[in-house]
Amino acid sequence: MGRYLESSCKLCRREGIKLMLKGIRCETAKCPVEKKQKNLAPGMHGWRRGRPSEYGVRLRETQKVKRYYGILDRQFMRYFQLAEKSHGNTGQMLLQILERRLDNVVYKLNWAPSRKGARELIVQGHICVNGRKVDIGSFSISVGDKITVKNSPKSSKKVKQQLESNPNFTVQSWLQLDREKPEATIVALPGRDDIQIPIEEQLIVEFCAR
Ligand code: SF4
Repeated sequence: MGRYLESSCKLCRREGIKLMLKGIRCETAKCPVEKKQKNLAPGMHGWRRGRPSEYGVRLRETQKVKRYYGILDRQFMRYFQLAEKSHGNTGQMLLQILERRLDNVVYKLNWAPSRKGARELIVQGHICVNGRKVDIGSFSISVGDKITVKNSPKSSKKVKQQLESNPNFTVQSWLQLDREKPEATIVALPGRDDIQIPIEEQLIVEFCAR
């Protein structure tokens, strides 16, 4: 599987928004996007002057969402085809499919500082769904699923440490979290309001359907 190995902050600088890829550092003044430099984009020349083309606008919107969830082209296109086949608004279905990924859920439960961290936790075998170990970050959760931490002191310690590092963290209404155990239940599917990244999904649909 392909992996992006360069600086995560470069991706945020390119998109001009905080994609929250580095956990706690993203909340501090060290974040390059917080510095609000005039020309934030990486590279010697930064952003090109002038109005971006219609293609360029749609491309950026698509890149933004891919980078936010940490997925690559081929997998993204698979999600898009799935969204096209499902009933409902394609853009919103696409976002829902992305939001249902296990690595996103683990991140949203604050069991890991970032989606990348959540993926590591899953791959290392610390997370179970309905009592069975799941080590695939892209695993898609459903309503009623119970997410737990593997019954081992090492796994519990990792998750509890993260939960304690941010006690004021609020969990979205489609997730129900028991901080003590810790375990969580999926009580509903995520809605459009639960997706916090500022994107226009219609532009993504136009880009992928061209
Ligand atoms: Fe880097 Fe996080 Fe800021 Fe993005 S949001 S630029 S990953 S510190």
